[in-house]
Amino acid sequence: MINILAVASEVFPLVKTGGLADVVGALPSALAGHGVKMRVMVPGYPAIMTAVKNAEPVWTSKHLFGGAARLLAGRSHGLDLLMLDAPHLFDRPGNPYLGPDGADWPDNWKRFAALSQVAAVVGRGAIESFVPAIVHVHDWQAALAAAYLKTGEKTDARVVLTIHNLAFQGNFPVTIFPELGLPQSAFALDGVEYYGGVSFLKGGLQYSDAITTVSPTYADEICTPAGGMGMDGLLRARRSVLSGIVNGIDTDVWNPGEDDNLLANYDTAGLASRAKNKREIENRFALRSGTGPIFCVVSRLAWQKGMDILGACIDGLVSAGGRLAVLGSGEAALEGLFRAASARHRGSVGVVTGYDESLAHLLQGGSDAILVPSRFEPCGLTQFYGLHYGCIPVVARVGGLADTIIDANDAALSAGVATGIQFFPVEAGALMGAINRAIGLYTNDIKAWRNMQKRGMKSAVSWGKSAARYAALYKGLAAGNE
Ligand code: ADP
Repeated sequence: MINILAVASEVFPLVKTGGLADVVGALPSALAGHGVKMRVMVPGYPAIMTAVKNAEPVWTSKHLFGGAARLLAGRSHGLDLLMLDAPHLFDRPGNPYLGPDGADWPDNWKRFAALSQVAAVVGRGAIESFVPAIVHVHDWQAALAAAYLKTGEKTDARVVLTIHNLAFQGNFPVTIFPELGLPQSAFALDGVEYYGGVSFLKGGLQYSDAITTVSPTYADEICTPAGGMGMDGLLRARRSVLSGIVNGIDTDVWNPGEDDNLLANYDTAGLASRAKNKREIENRFALRSGTGPIFCVVSRLAWQKGMDILGACIDGLVSAGGRLAVLGSGEAALEGLFRAASARHRGSVGVVTGYDESLAHLLQGGSDAILVPSRFEPCGLTQFYGLHYGCIPVVARVGGLADTIIDANDAALSAGVATGIQFFPVEAGALMGAINRAIGLYTNDIKAWRNMQKRGMKSAVSWGKSAARYAALYKGLAAGNE
């Protein structure tokens, strides 16, 4: 059995703002069959502290970035958790990253440096009964653990960094550096220094033994100036330790046969039952009943997700006979755009703003297609849920969306391998073309559509293969150490 300490700022189902939480929450059980014991270290946000009962302190400090802190070990939802109980940093309501005004907490650098520093302490063996061979850090919030581990006293622990989204880098002014507790030598080109400031993610990229990202295509894209977001030079230099492993989905949580959020459960043989869920979507989104397809969106409303591009296609979608149900939250301008569209197309476009896990399931279980027009998409999860629920993914051909969907072009349709519709470039004309293709197929060749649904539902979306790849990566690194 190999011990892995996973470190992240969110974990499903306790705290989630995006796909990161899904991945961190699903990996431990996916890895259990591979001889890997994974504990997950997360900040002790109120939502986590109240959900986990009977937690035991396993480490304490009187001074962690300005206050006392404890590491508590506990279990919840099958997860073996280590919670960093540091009230001065984490005992705040709401979103893990943002204050009530919607802006980043001003001390985010301190909060996540603390998480990273304590992860390194555990990596060095502070918990006798759990000495990890690998510290697996996720995104910038945990990335600095690599710097804490590699710049201090020599340790056997190896570090894997997974990039879920290169857009979030944790870049801060140089003034924070003296407070991080790193040696002065770490403030260098081959350390955490980044254009005169401090970058947590860059530190992680620099000091980790292996870097993964969440799809092979995204691994290629981030090594280019166009997709590298200022880190491509370093990523090219580290290309030999960078790999892409696609995410899977938790098929216990996402299972159309047993999903309590659906009015009707179904499998590939009972696709007709989806109609009941579709009626419920019409009710919930105030859509006129009709025969045309319902397209859905389940997304952060952000530039990355191409929501403005979709905005430019709504009139076309409606006039081609489609309907649209949008579930999302995020930028006010984009929320406004969809509200205006729903006022303009009453009965054809419905919008629910906010975050609603249950409604996300219903949309996958009753809509005909899910639109994912992302400008960039490291892996994406909603297209997997779509595949698994018979909700045809209509996606931009970027990142993980390129790797996980087979476009319904003539060749793929006649070979019987298509699972969705892809478009490129990521602009309104191409998206409109994809929407028209979807409506055309749905209206004129329902048999081909149904076959595509069934193929998607049968395609491998669970963690099986990817968990094996993570396990092999851990074991390879640990063996290199012996
Ligand atoms: P990202 O992590 O970039 O936001 P992903 O596609 O990887 O994108 O993961 C998004 C996750 O968040 C999915 O599980 C999706 O169902 C969920 N999600 C996004 N927006 C909402 C929302 N408004 N309500 C419910 N679930 C949402």
